[in-house]
Amino acid sequence: MLDNSKRSKDNKCDVIITGAGPAGLMAAISAAREGAFVTVFEQKDKPLKKLYATGNGRCNFSNLYMDDKVYRGGDPGFALKIVDNYNRDDLLLFFHELGMMTKHIGDYIYPYNEQAKSVADALLLECRRLGVKICCEEPVIDITYTPDDENASSSDIYDEPDEERRFTVTTRKSTYSCKKLILAVGGKASPAHGSDGNLNSVITGLGHTIKPQRPALVPLMHSDKKLSKLAGVRVKCAVTLVVSGREVSDEKGEIIFNKDNVSGIPVMQVSRYAGPAFDEGREVSVRIDLFPDETEDELFALMRRAFDGYYDVSSMRNKDTRRDRSALEALSLCLNEKLAEYCLNEAGIIPRSLAGNVQDKKLMTLTALLKNLNVKVTGDAGFERAQVTAGGVSLDELTEDLGSKIIPGLYIVGELADVDGTCGGYNLQWAFSSGAIAGRDAAVKLNG
Ligand SMILES: Cc1cc2nc3c(=O)[nH]c(=O)nc-3n(C[C@H](O)[C@H](O)[C@H](O)COP(=O)(O)OP(=O)(O)OC[C@H]3O[C@@H](n4cnc5c(N)ncnc54)[C@H](O)[C@@H]3O)c2cc1C
Repeated sequence: MLDNSKRSKDNKCDVIITGAGPAGLMAAISAAREGAFVTVFEQKDKPLKKLYATGNGRCNFSNLYMDDKVYRGGDPGFALKIVDNYNRDDLLLFFHELGMMTKHIGDYIYPYNEQAKSVADALLLECRRLGVKICCEEPVIDITYTPDDENASSSDIYDEPDEERRFTVTTRKSTYSCKKLILAVGGKASPAHGSDGNLNSVITGLGHTIKPQRPALVPLMHSDKKLSKLAGVRVKCAVTLVVSGREVSDEKGEIIFNKDNVSGIPVMQVSRYAGPAFDEGREVSVRIDLFPDETEDELFALMRRAFDGYYDVSSMRNKDTRRDRSALEALSLCLNEKLAEYCLNEAGIIPRSLAGNVQDKKLMTLTALLKNLNVKVTGDAGFERAQVTAGGVSLDELTEDLGSKIIPGLYIVGELADVDGTCGGYNLQWAFSSGAIAGRDAAVKLNG
C-alpha cells in the first residue's frame, strides 16, 4: 500500500480533489491507481453523503439502456461521448473487481443487496487501499492559479520554489499547493447533502462560465386545495408538460399526488423543462392521462358499460341487476377511489348518484377529464427537493478528458458540469465516468 500520509508534508500534493462525492472519489481512485498522491477535501463530516440517499437508499448507479436522449444540458453528445469512453461495462467491472456484486431490475442497475452503503463502502475501501487522503469538515474556500511566468515569485509562501504546483488551495483549516486540481463539488441540488454552489464565484473567478443552474428531476408544485386531498395517491399514467398551451415533454409511469405538489418519475423527468418557463412568467401545467392505453372513444364506451353495469353478455339480459351502484362505486373499480371522487366532482357528477342514471353528456365530460386531467403548476419544489442540477460549467470550456481549456491542470467533473441525466442511474454513471477519465488524465499528465 502507498503511504500517502508521509508524502503530504508541507501541504504539497500531486492532485487535490474538491468534493468527496461519487465523481470526486472516482477521480481520486483513478488518479491514485496511476501512482498520484491524492488529497480530497470534503466540507461535510463524511464523504458520499448524497450517494447514500440515491435510489431511495438503493443506489441506481447505471442503466442497461443508453441513447442520445438520456443526457440533457449544453451538449448531450459530449456527455454521451464521456459515458462511452468510460461506460457501463467499465463501471460494472470496476465494482466487480472491488468485490461488489451488482444486479439489474428492468434496465436499472443496483448493487446486489440494493444498499447504497455497499457502493460507498466499495469506493472508500479502495481509497483506503490506495492511500487517498480524505479530509472531511474541511471546505475549500479559495483557489488561485499562478501561470508559468508568475510562479517563481508566488511560490515563496512554501519552503522551496515549486514550478509545478501552480494551484494554491485554501481550505478553512490551511493552505495547500498541487499540480492538478479536480473540482467535483456537485451542483446545487439537495444542499443538505453538501452541494450548494458555494464555489461558483471562485470558479467564475478562474475564468469559467457557469450556465444558469436550475433544479431538475424535481416535484412540481400546485396550490389546488381539492387536489391536496389526494395526498398519497399513486397512479400509473401518462404525463405531458404544457407551457403556454404548447406540449413540451411527455413521459409515462407512476406519479404521486402530494399535499402541494405532484412527484414521481414521469413528473421529475418533465420538470427540467419547466424551469425556464417559470422564469419567463409563462403558464405551466401538467396534463395527466389516467388511461393512456385507451382512446377517448374507447374509454367512453368502457365508462358507459361500467356505469350501466353491463359487464358481460348475461348481464345484458339482466341489465338492472347492477344498477344499484353509485357513480363512485362504478368508477372506483378502475381508478383509485380518492381520485375517482375528485374526477367525478370535477366533471359535475355527484359521486353518490346512481351510476346508470349518468347521462352520456356528463359521461363524455368525465371521459375527457380522465384523459386530460390538468394540474396548474405554480413552480418547482426548489433545489432542496431536486435530485439533480440543470446547468453548470460550460462544456465548451472542457476537453474530452474534462480538462479546463482555460486553466491548464484544472478539471471539472460530475454534476458541476453542464450535464444532467434523466432518472435511471444516468447521473451517477456520468459522475463516475467523468471522474474516472479526469482522474486518470490528471495523474498521467502529472509530469508532462
Ligand atoms: C435524493 C436523491 C436521489 C438520487 N438518486 C439517484 C439515483 O438513483 N441514480 C442516479 O444516477 N442519480 C441519483 N441522484 C443524483 C446523484 O446523486 C448526483 O448526480 C451525484 O451524486 C453527483 O455526484 P457529484 O460527485 O458530482 O456531486 P455530489 O454527490 O453532490 O458531491 C459533491 C460533494 O462536494 C462537496 N463540496 C461542496 N462544496 C465543497 C467545498 N467548497 N469544499 C469541499 N467539498 C465541497 C459536497 O459536500 C459533496 O460531498 C440522486 C440525487 C438525490 C438528491
